[in-house]
Amino acid sequence: RRCGFCKSNGVFYSKRKSIPLPSDEFLDAFTFISSQPHKGNIAFIEAATGRTLAYIDLWRSVNSVAAGLSELGVRQGDVILLLSPNSIQFPIICLAVMSIGAIITTTNPLNTPGEIHKQAADSNATLAFTIPALIPKLSLTNLPIVLIGSDTEPRSCITTLDRLMRTNPERRPLVRIKQDDTATLLFSSGTTGVSKGVASSHRNVIAMVSVLQKRYSPGERLTFLCTVPMFHIYGLCCFATGLLAAGTTTVVISKFELSEMLQAVETYRVTHLPIVPPILVALGGSEVSQRFNLGSLKNVVCGGAPVSREVTEAFLRRFPGVVLTQGYGMTETAGIGASTETPEEGKRYGSAGLLIPDMEAKIVDPETGESMPPNRRGELWLRGPSVMKGYFSNAEATAGTLNSEGWLRTGDLCYFDEDGFLFVVDRLKELIKYKGYQVAPAELEALLLTHPNVEDAAVVPFPDKEAGQIPVAFVVKKVESHLSNATLLSFVADRVAPYKKIRRVMFVRSIPKTSSGKILRKDLINLAIALSSNS
Ligand code: AMP
Repeated sequence: RRCGFCKSNGVFYSKRKSIPLPSDEFLDAFTFISSQPHKGNIAFIEAATGRTLAYIDLWRSVNSVAAGLSELGVRQGDVILLLSPNSIQFPIICLAVMSIGAIITTTNPLNTPGEIHKQAADSNATLAFTIPALIPKLSLTNLPIVLIGSDTEPRSCITTLDRLMRTNPERRPLVRIKQDDTATLLFSSGTTGVSKGVASSHRNVIAMVSVLQKRYSPGERLTFLCTVPMFHIYGLCCFATGLLAAGTTTVVISKFELSEMLQAVETYRVTHLPIVPPILVALGGSEVSQRFNLGSLKNVVCGGAPVSREVTEAFLRRFPGVVLTQGYGMTETAGIGASTETPEEGKRYGSAGLLIPDMEAKIVDPETGESMPPNRRGELWLRGPSVMKGYFSNAEATAGTLNSEGWLRTGDLCYFDEDGFLFVVDRLKELIKYKGYQVAPAELEALLLTHPNVEDAAVVPFPDKEAGQIPVAFVVKKVESHLSNATLLSFVADRVAPYKKIRRVMFVRSIPKTSSGKILRKDLINLAIALSSNS
């Protein structure tokens, strides 16, 4: 078996044991997940009510909703939009959609009606699921709505999830779904530009599910707490697919709040807690955790954005008995690409861990295109069974990200050490991550340019202890125009989801660009840092 670094072709092979994947041409993710041996009992617990859902009822609900959807006319290849906070129903909807060969596209409930309309249009969605409070957010889409969580549908909705759940599961249609068919369309800006639909196949999902199943199914029963959003690949790959194949129990809280989360850990004897770095910062720095009995907690998994050594140490001082592990991944890799698993691996400060089973990597010098050996930096390229098919209906963006040999350009500046541990050093791509959420500078720049007094604009990340990064804008005013900082901040805030808000504006005479017109983002980041340290 190949593992480690291969000098002759510059490829890093995973050191983890390979996982054989099913080779059937026809196989869908739901069939794969639900046919895994699981340890019986509870799949989900709703933290607020204590309501539980057993595995057997979960599978039955999925089949009923699938049957109900096909009675509504949903067919293979149709795209269904899901706009909802985390809930027990969320995974049921995702699995039901996938099980009839339709495609699920999830969206952030914080997004504006305009942003949701754009996603619905870009993905060709034909039906939406949402909760009563979020119906107005679908107002620009004209999509028929299935209402979650209420049995009396307002006139704007065609039916309710509760009704679909009462459909006879036997009436689920038998469709032949290829592993190559698209299962999910999550949105990501990738290395450049605005958000695009990441088309992941059933094979991609099955590959990711297999990694989580291998890791979490053996041994004693595990109880996870879901704090990460299920609409994001992090939550989706864990809680709507992967862990269900491992047979674990998941406690679901609908909205993150530190003491509510800690209360749920205590009440439900949670053993595993996947989080994003801002929560790790909060856990390490807050006295609140001392008010709860967190003795059941064994493993905190942190992923989605970088974590500093300082934050890691603060957490470990407060929770010496808890194993802290790391995960690095992308929407484009259907979840995790590298991770640490054991306490020893977790102690490699700053490392995102070893490549997941069967993932291959290259570290490519962005200037020369040469593959780099261990301890040399370059752009991380990944290839493996969970790497996306491409961007939905966007051949140009796909060609810029995936090459003909199946290598995915991550846009992350990384290196591997001699032992195969990945270190993420910086981001070469434009992407800003605010509290783990994606913010695409191209989108904010396009918006700023619509302001009548803005001549030119560039948006770059600025480091922030709590959020990881915040978006800051450099703006060139139109000659003789009057434009204040506050006017521009509210101009943007009124038009985008709160997590995308520009937090600071700096007026400049011109935006530095290359001769081909590309914004010199690094120069602006350095300028922002220099200006703020002088102020
Ligand atoms: P997303 O598609 O939203 O998951 O964003 C993927 C990007 O998040 C990656 O390309 C990285 O830039 C960043 N990221 C994810 N996990 C980590 C990590 N553990 N350390 C550093 N950056 C990370």
